[in-house]
Amino acid sequence: MHVLAETAAKAPSSTRSTRELRSLYDQQSELVRKVATRRGLWIAVVAYLGYSLTDYLFIADVARSTITARFIVGLGALCILEFLLRRKAMANTIDVASAISVSTGYLVWLVMAQMTEDRAAFSYYMVFGAIFMMSVNLFFRFRSSVAIASSAANMIIFIGALCVFAPMAFTHKLIMGAFCISCFIFTAYVNLELNKERYKVFLNALEASLQQAAADERGNALLHLSNTDSLTGLENRRAIDQRLRDYWQRWLDDGASFAVLLIDVDYFKHYNDCYGHQQGDQCLVTISEHLQQTASSCGAVIGRYGGEEFIVIKSASSLDDMKELAEAIRRGVAEMALPHQHRRDGTPIITVSVGVSHTRSEIKQVDKVVHEADRALYAAKAGGRNVVAVFDVTDSKYSVDREDVAATLKIALDQKLVSLVYQPIRNMQTGMLDGAEALMRLKMLDGTPVGPDVFIPIAERTGAIVALGRWAIRTTCSDLLVTDLVRVASVNVSPMELKKPGFADYVAAILAEFEVDGGRLAFEITEGVELEIDQDLVRCISDLRKLGVQVWLDDFGTGFAGLSWLRLIDFDTVKIDRSFLHDSHTDRGRRMLLDIITLLRNRGVSILVEGVETAEHQRLMLQYGIHYLQGYHIARPAPADQLATNNVLPFLETKKNVG
Ligand code: C2E
Ligand code: MG
Ligand code: MG
Repeated sequence: MHVLAETAAKAPSSTRSTRELRSLYDQQSELVRKVATRRGLWIAVVAYLGYSLTDYLFIADVARSTITARFIVGLGALCILEFLLRRKAMANTIDVASAISVSTGYLVWLVMAQMTEDRAAFSYYMVFGAIFMMSVNLFFRFRSSVAIASSAANMIIFIGALCVFAPMAFTHKLIMGAFCISCFIFTAYVNLELNKERYKVFLNALEASLQQAAADERGNALLHLSNTDSLTGLENRRAIDQRLRDYWQRWLDDGASFAVLLIDVDYFKHYNDCYGHQQGDQCLVTISEHLQQTASSCGAVIGRYGGEEFIVIKSASSLDDMKELAEAIRRGVAEMALPHQHRRDGTPIITVSVGVSHTRSEIKQVDKVVHEADRALYAAKAGGRNVVAVFDVTDSKYSVDREDVAATLKIALDQKLVSLVYQPIRNMQTGMLDGAEALMRLKMLDGTPVGPDVFIPIAERTGAIVALGRWAIRTTCSDLLVTDLVRVASVNVSPMELKKPGFADYVAAILAEFEVDGGRLAFEITEGVELEIDQDLVRCISDLRKLGVQVWLDDFGTGFAGLSWLRLIDFDTVKIDRSFLHDSHTDRGRRMLLDIITLLRNRGVSILVEGVETAEHQRLMLQYGIHYLQGYHIARPAPADQLATNNVLPFLETKKNVG
């Protein structure tokens, strides 16, 4: 434990560390010594003056002189002491002055006392000199050298006086001299031990304080570590949660509003898959450095909130400022132009999406602020990524909470919260409504409708889509096909459903149960950005084909994999996304649409154009020789019973016209 103390105490005083320690000891004990010397001298002077009484008792004839001498020397010593203290003299100087005062006190008294007539009394009385010796060694906190020197001076004065003034036999003088020397040796020894002990105590205290400092440093390092993200060096979630609580407390106490920005790297999982985790980490570090710079330039706090998610918290001056900061972050990352060549949306660089929320009086918990930023982030992602979205409570897109939707989806089938509407498909050659597409609808427990654009991605993420999808197939078959309302019914399917083992078996079982020909059922697969063709998918599609089921490609042209899809899979029908038709009012748009139609014709697939909203759209499609049309101008999605009444010429009458 006290290794330092022991080593230093044993080490030769010439070693450098010992010298340094000594000087540190001197420095640190400076004040203590001054205080001790001052106290010591005051007490010594009081005692010195107090011995005036014994002067009266033992050497009354010279008492007046000795007492006067006592007062002059005693008070003089105190004056010098106080003067030196005032002048901020060093402890050593004060010690030496005090030691000289003590010796002077003894000497002056001796000179005065020896004038007494009572020589015998004086001979014994002078033995009190031993007290002076003791006092310098034990009474003060003099350094050993000063104490011993002063004590030795007292001893010499004593012995000198003994030889010169004391009228006693030689043997008695020897006894007194031996007593005096013994006193000197014993008190000097005790003084040495005392000083050694004081030094040891100092070393122990020093070691303890060094250990304390080391422990504090270790503690701080550990605290820093536990609050820091090891990859980016930013604050980690734990630290950020604490920051959020602090901001929240200030908001509650002083109404200091703040904003939360959640920043997510777009397609980062895919980046990791393509470039490897090491480069993924490097990418996060580069982004974090940029974010750190931007955030700290405006006094915001930044941390890593999850895998590729960062969080910025800032005292909010205005929402516009927040938007500006979010936009600066988004733009900054895009301007870094870190390559990401494999993004499915075709953007060749790394971008981020940012969700912003801020404190509102209705919010009762800090988690809600973060949650709203998360919802805004989700909206930013849904809005095409590389965008900033600000949570706005009045915006209908935020009227339902993703968590609520996810929970509702779990009970949706049991509670009959999902339903299907069917949107007819018109065959332009016959003019008949020839097929219909099943579109899923969801309402929350309180009756609020939620659009498929919102709940389908959630169902896909939570896996609820599998059960919902199977229910949709079954319901469509029984609503439309068993009743022969249309010739072909199409059902949208998520790739996740197709990849799930047993999908084709399930379809086979349904077809068998309802005794429906496989060719009357079509599955629409969206050429979505997240979709990758893998073995499971190809196997499932080929199994479906064996059942005679049709496979359609939905929203053609919106993704970036459309052409490779066309190359790999023989689709029966391709639905051209409505955006192309809607762009057809311009020459460029029309040419684009025509190019797509030509391409698909060359592939030999049947073409369906969706989003026919006007008579002009329909005319244009007729001009381009498109057979199958779908859109609000043709018919709006409706429940099965309304489809039956609207569909003036149901399948039974038009059966022969559709091929
Ligand atoms: P989708 O398969 O492309 O469906 C067409 C969407 O366009 C439907 O929106 C429909 O109501 C809308 N629409 C139809 N005609 C017009 C028109 O003339 N103009 C405009 N502007 N829109 C028109 P909805 O019902 O909101 O569905 C959106 C998407 O949700 C669907 O796009 C589909 O991808 C997905 N979805 C819907 N039901 C299901 C389902 O049961 N399963 C799966 N996996 N996805 C579904
Ligand atoms: Mg569809
Ligand atoms: Mg579509």
